[in-house]
Amino acid sequence: MTLLIATTSADKRREIRLVLAGLDVQLVTLADLPAMPEPAETGATFWENARQKAIAYSRASGLVAVAEDSGLAIDALGGEPGVRSARFLGPEAPYAARFEEIFRRLAATPGATREARFVTALAVADESTIVFETETRLEGTLAPAPAGAHGFGYDPIFFYPPLGKTTGEMTREEKSAVSHRARAFRDLRRALFAAP
Ligand code: IMP
Repeated sequence: MTLLIATTSADKRREIRLVLAGLDVQLVTLADLPAMPEPAETGATFWENARQKAIAYSRASGLVAVAEDSGLAIDALGGEPGVRSARFLGPEAPYAARFEEIFRRLAATPGATREARFVTALAVADESTIVFETETRLEGTLAPAPAGAHGFGYDPIFFYPPLGKTTGEMTREEKSAVSHRARAFRDLRRALFAAP
């Protein structure tokens, strides 16, 4: 079987390959295929975006495609940046500016708690049919200040209490053991390949 990992993010692909290693499946990424039109992420939920992307890329490639939509949801900010995580303050906004804005908004919210979570919705499509889907979370808090140079995106401000560090301070293996995305792809391993 050939499985298309349908994400344009090289950071995500690196994490996904680590979790899917050792399966009896040929993994193909968008970087291996001729350019395909990127589906617009217009959904109001992680689910909608994951499904839309999986179906669009499966139809365009003729391969079974797995897509995920993910983001950081901060309780005190009403779940923001949420589905707009990649576009918060604009698609090109530097993460340092996004972190500053998040801390500014939290400081301006009386009684704000620091609870936050990373969420991943994952969908596998065979043409227009969704053949598997799962949603996974990583619960944590906002760090007092950005820390760590590993990972990507919001990793430096996401503190994971059980390990006493941010996901930006975790090694690749540490993040892979606990992360929302790794959990989603382990669900996929079990469901589609009966693999641990
Ligand atoms: P999308 O799923 O491509 O719409 O974008 C997901 C966005 O959520 C990324 O661009 C990051 O900003 C953020 N995000 C998702 N997963 C992670 C993670 O594991 N660490 C840090 N940021 C993440």
